[in-house]
Amino acid sequence: MSINKAKEILKDVFGYPHFRPTQQKVIEAVLQKKDCLVLMPTGGGKSICFQIPALVLPGVTVVVSPLIALMKDQVEALKLNGVEAEFLNSSLTDTQQAEIIKRTVDGEVKLLYVSPEKMNSESFYYILQQCTVSLIAIDEAHCISSWGHDFRPDYKKLGYLKKQFMGVPIMALTATADPLTQDDIVVQLKLDKPIIFKDSFSRPNIFIEVQPAYKRKEAILSFIQQRGEESGILYCLSKKNTEDLSRFLRSNGVASGYYHAGMDPLIRNRVQNDFINDRIKVICATIAFGMGIDKSNVRWVIHHNLPKNIEGYYQEIGRSGRDGMPAHALLFYGVQDYNVLLGFNDQSERKVILNARLDRMMHFAQSNHCRRKLLLNYFGEWTQNDCGACDNCKGQPALFDGTVLAQKALSAVARLQGKLPGELLPQIMTGNKTPEVMAGKFNAIKTFGAGADVSIDDWQRIVNQLVSLGYIKVEYQLGSILALTPLSQKVLFDSERVMLHRLDEKIKRAKKPAPKKRLASTTFRQETGLFERLRQLRRTMAVAQGVPPYILFSDATLTEMVQQRPTNEREMKEISGVGNTKWERYGQAFVNEIKAFEGRF
Ligand code: ADP
Ligand code: MG
Ligand code: ZN
Repeated sequence: MSINKAKEILKDVFGYPHFRPTQQKVIEAVLQKKDCLVLMPTGGGKSICFQIPALVLPGVTVVVSPLIALMKDQVEALKLNGVEAEFLNSSLTDTQQAEIIKRTVDGEVKLLYVSPEKMNSESFYYILQQCTVSLIAIDEAHCISSWGHDFRPDYKKLGYLKKQFMGVPIMALTATADPLTQDDIVVQLKLDKPIIFKDSFSRPNIFIEVQPAYKRKEAILSFIQQRGEESGILYCLSKKNTEDLSRFLRSNGVASGYYHAGMDPLIRNRVQNDFINDRIKVICATIAFGMGIDKSNVRWVIHHNLPKNIEGYYQEIGRSGRDGMPAHALLFYGVQDYNVLLGFNDQSERKVILNARLDRMMHFAQSNHCRRKLLLNYFGEWTQNDCGACDNCKGQPALFDGTVLAQKALSAVARLQGKLPGELLPQIMTGNKTPEVMAGKFNAIKTFGAGADVSIDDWQRIVNQLVSLGYIKVEYQLGSILALTPLSQKVLFDSERVMLHRLDEKIKRAKKPAPKKRLASTTFRQETGLFERLRQLRRTMAVAQGVPPYILFSDATLTEMVQQRPTNEREMKEISGVGNTKWERYGQAFVNEIKAFEGRF
């Protein structure tokens, strides 16, 4: 069975001109009936690794998938490409299931998606005995590991497959497995001398940015407003946060909804569907939201709060930009969240480890180094290269409007004019009742604790900056007592804006004017009205089909249409993501829209 056949299918059925490098190697191995473990980042294109062999090989490929939503998404996408794919799960009636089983036994179904429970059931085993099984794919294989956060006991039982389906290759796939989990997968599935394919977990299309948790709401709103119709996920720490933020966004005209574990499942599902189908733009969610979301056109992820650890954070930001188009991850961090999370850990037996992971997360947030470098090193991909696509690499991270913070600090200085030693100002701002503070009765002033939402370390950095920028004078000869300056008067009484850097080191370079407002990395698509028109057309047609828009054509495919302006069948089929079936069903409508846009009608 040749790789050429596979390439033909890639082009004709999926509409893609070439394999990504690892995809081709995996497919070659499977066609030689080798077991494989495939480690690729989210959006790396794992599905193609088993979907193409399924179409090349005779018989049926069985795919084990942990969630109904994931099965549905993949099966719908395959069907739109004209592939005979089905799933069996509790969302179907018995009659529907019987029908699919019959077609599978008759050899009509090429890909059959099932839950691990189904795969482990005796009745299903007997059904498969009547079929030619060409390949078994275990998607999201990290669910096998009890150490991971998505552990599914039924995955553990899949170890029986290797023995019962002799000679059938098994492929395990995942985007989240540290070395321990990788070994666990191989051992538990009893893979036979598996070939391990490992791509970098790097997601270079995601711009990574971190900001202190200061005026978050306003910052989030302006971030979203700059991004037109782009979909995004706003992760929050608490259920209440999700509801509050969603309400806030709605009141500012942003179509948003909230999602958390405490909701009626029916309503929760409706919100999820509204998001997937582009009926709402923003979903404010706890981390309960995510697994099972294959929506490829999530253009940004914001963390309203500090995540518990880097694994979770990386997985969450990984939900953006699955289509490979530019995406943006923005994290807000603050010491308050850190303290709340420390509190959660307090009850756990694994407190020490949990706290260490939380600290690592905080270090990441506070770091001045290339963010991606830190992330990849965390995952054991030792790298020294700066990525060029994060806030620190761009060197424009942290000028933020610190006027209110400055006013609080200056007002404390004013109240304690002539008495306040510099090193105590951060203590006073955060409301720390240290012996020195108490001795000076500094806790009696009105601004004591007025800046408790900012960490003491950040207050130290802020105070340092206020000093260097001339807003506070240090009377060194008087024991470093703080005093106001002519500049501080402007801030206190004329509301002059104070722009601050959050890191000490950058203060020295703070002479330059505030950087220009960063343009959304994706705005180039909005420069042309054509993208919007195609997006609208995609939506209308997707609604008519009852599928999410991104399944019909990805943002990447639309963008290529905007760039190439195909106006006939040949040109349209050159677009990545337009296979034969999609051309037949939707191609002409898109060609017409492009022609209309260009005024050729
Ligand atoms: P994963 O399961 O690894 O997260 P998917 O299989 O869902 O990733 O694929 C992510 C995206 O990449 C999908 O939109 C898919 O159609 C696209 N894709 C996969 N392989 C190719 C390829 N060879 N060329 C172009 N696009 C591809
Ligand atoms: Mg996948
Ligand atoms: Zn970087």
